[in-house]
This record gives sequence, structure tokens and C-alpha cells, in this order.
Amino acid sequence: LKILQQAGLIEMAEGKVKLSEFGKNFMEVKAEKAQDASADLSDAKPVAITEVRQLLPCIADSTKFRIIANMAPPLGGALKALEPLFPRGRYSERIGALIIQRGDVLTTVYGTGNVTMTMIKDEAEARKNLERLKETINEAIARGVAPAPREKVRVEPMEIYKYLPQTNCGECGEQSCYSFAIQLMNGEVSLDLCTPLKDPKYRQNLEHLQVMAEYI
Ligand code: SF4
Repeated sequence: LKILQQAGLIEMAEGKVKLSEFGKNFMEVKAEKAQDASADLSDAKPVAITEVRQLLPCIADSTKFRIIANMAPPLGGALKALEPLFPRGRYSERIGALIIQRGDVLTTVYGTGNVTMTMIKDEAEARKNLERLKETINEAIARGVAPAPREKVRVEPMEIYKYLPQTNCGECGEQSCYSFAIQLMNGEVSLDLCTPLKDPKYRQNLEHLQVMAEYI
């Protein structure tokens, strides 16, 4: 509670706790974000996985693999309409790609047709996941309409905190890593401010946090 108070999200008086004005605004902004409508699939054609080009050791964990594949025809902006199909899917306007998190596996489908998948056990798992991805997309295209928008996965500060170094070093200007997690959710700070995350030992954490930042 003290951390939430420091972050300005709650007020405590006479033993009672209530949301501050800032906290209320913060909750409203999150609710609005969850109601983003999706787009149109009418021009999209069924896709096929045309090739799995590379199987490389994963940067974050050398026992796992990273693949680069190709999906054709490219889905372009229609990818945005597919976002609600995936419980942890997020379309990024910035990179023009749909990012899907499933356990440790991170799949990025670019509007250009490129598909990358990280933290894969072997090629068989990669092909199975790509097949499932293709089927899910083609079913939505066959229906001819975009899936109904649904509530997005909400990223909680504790989930962000889990991947921070948890040293409370203060280099980001916050008193604690948890406070930094809250400020990150508020959009008040950017991930770059946590400089310890640049240490190679936190590479995997950073990758997860970058994906989570797309949900915020
Ligand atoms: S710089 Fe990173 S590790 Fe240090 S307190 Fe901030 S969030 Fe935590």
C-alpha cells in the first residue's frame, strides 16, 4: 500500500484507503484502451506458411531456438483485426506487427509476411505452432468478419516487477523496482531508464518486458 501511495495511485487517511484522482484517471484510461475496436478482414486471403527459413539458437536461452518463417500472402494492416483472436495478442502500429505471447514463446507476425518465433524447443514445435497460427488466422478469414473485440489482457504491476532486476538500485529515479513498474504502467517512464536491464544476464527479462510494454 505504501508503494501505491508513493506512486500517487491511492490516498490513506484515518486508516482508510481510497483511490486518488490520479488513480481513478489511471483506471479509466486502462478501461478505454480495452475497448479499442478491431478492423475489417474482407480483403484478406487465406494464408499459408511458405517456408521456415532459419532455425537459430535463441539469444535469451541457448538451449532454445528462434525461427524466421514466411507467411503468404502478407496480411498487411488486416493483422490488426486479428488481435482479439489471441489472448495475449497485441498489434503494434509502431512495427506493423501482431505480437503473440504464449507461455515463454513469443511470435511476431509482420504485415510484410515475415514471422519470427522465439524460445522454441525444436523445429517440430515451431512447425506445430506455425500450423496452429495459420489455422486460427484462416478460420477468422473464412468467417469474413473480424472477431468481436474482447477485453484485453491486463498487465499488472506485479507481472512487470517479476521481470525487473528487483535490486531497488534507484538508477531509474524511482525508489524501488515496484514503483518503477507502476510508473511504467502509467506511461510516466520508459523501459530504457532501467539501465541494469542492459546487462546481458537480463536479456530474456528485457525481451519479456518489451512485449509487455506493448500491452500498456
Ligand atoms: S533502475 Fe531498474 S533495477 Fe534499479 S530500481 Fe529502477 S527498476 Fe529497479
